[in-house]
Amino acid sequence: MDPSYLIKPLLDETYPVIDYGKGVYLFDMDGNDYLDGSSGAITANIGHGTKEIIQAAAQQAEKVSFVYRSQFTSEAAEKLALKLAELAKGELNWSFFVNSGSEATETAMKIAIQYWQEQGVFTKTKILSRWISYHGITLGALSMSGHKGRRARFMPLLEDCPVLPPPYCYRCPYDEIEGSCQYSCAHELDLLIKRIGPEHIAAFIAEPIVGAAGAALTPPKDYYKIIKEICKKHGVLFIADEVMTGFGRTGKMFAAEHWDAAPDIVALGKGMGAGYTAIAAALVSDSVMEPILKGSKSIMSGHTLSANPQSCAVSLAVLDYLEKNDLVKQAEKKGIYLINLLRKLQISFPFIGDIRGKGLMIGLEFVQDPTKKTVFPREMLFTQRLISTAQKNGLLLYPAGAGEDGIHGDAIIIAPPLTITEPEMD
Ligand code: PLP
Repeated sequence: MDPSYLIKPLLDETYPVIDYGKGVYLFDMDGNDYLDGSSGAITANIGHGTKEIIQAAAQQAEKVSFVYRSQFTSEAAEKLALKLAELAKGELNWSFFVNSGSEATETAMKIAIQYWQEQGVFTKTKILSRWISYHGITLGALSMSGHKGRRARFMPLLEDCPVLPPPYCYRCPYDEIEGSCQYSCAHELDLLIKRIGPEHIAAFIAEPIVGAAGAALTPPKDYYKIIKEICKKHGVLFIADEVMTGFGRTGKMFAAEHWDAAPDIVALGKGMGAGYTAIAAALVSDSVMEPILKGSKSIMSGHTLSANPQSCAVSLAVLDYLEKNDLVKQAEKKGIYLINLLRKLQISFPFIGDIRGKGLMIGLEFVQDPTKKTVFPREMLFTQRLISTAQKNGLLLYPAGAGEDGIHGDAIIIAPPLTITEPEMD
């Protein structure tokens, strides 16, 4: 087998060739097994090789795998849209299906801009976002992403940089004190909107819990309450990027529920197909759809494979499996169990500076000196070495990019499939 395809992260390295997966384990062709401690890129939420999903995929393939969305709808797509409306709280009742998280965040961004245009407002085109964030790799999504390393090569092609600081409590730049936090980072949004002018701003996008760029940065209690109030005051839509946090990962179906953040649009991906298919969606509220339904009656976006029945049927089976096995509740319980294990580990390994997150989305940030929170020198490649050592020992972990700007520490995400058992976590 020639493994020299371009998708390899490092083209001159060899990677193990995976033969099959079962539960929380992956097995390579050389007979090694790996505990999938990060569900790949926080994607394989129900584990590998699940029979029910394989059967649902085969059943749909027997009927029809593809119809073009401009010509037909399908039972699977319609059922999936209804299912998402049922799972999402409040008035999030409309689904636009795409194939990746990046497409989902870009669709959300486009719908936000269209929402204002349908009301005759053509100046509200900017989407505000935060540093230490990741919303996807395509140019629109990357424009909104506060991820220095992934932006660097394409800076001339990107829109303005993200400007808002994230809620990064472990390294709070405002020296806020836990328990009496004044939420300076959230209030910055108010200043920012006033400076730019609300007449230019369509929406603010944020990951409820920051993933790839920040290793599960989790906001304090009232953060999203303040963000929502500021958005409402200025007529700015709130987009929750739940591509990583959605579908039970954090112990709620959607992470915004932890703070009653009631987004206007939600971007979904990863766990929606749980790695069994490529599917993602923008979930849109009734009030955002209202002017569109009264106006052009069409969303100006779409992809060839949007809403293909094959992916929709697989996603439906994944969501069904999630519900039948009560995995959302279990993620909450198992998260507490795993965090407690990690806290014990922290006593023996003081370089684990911070343990954070919710449910089974757990971030670890590493420091040279836990009191001063000093970061390891970049040239030590701490995260890369830790991850590759873990992999050689049969454990997969996800590198989180907070270290790239030299300000923040090395970090990883631990996010096993929600089906993991206590002995497996041990
Ligand atoms: N949004 C968030 C929060 C993500 O974590 C990611 C991927 O890591 C994306 C968007 C992009 O998703 P995809 O890689 O499927 O395009």
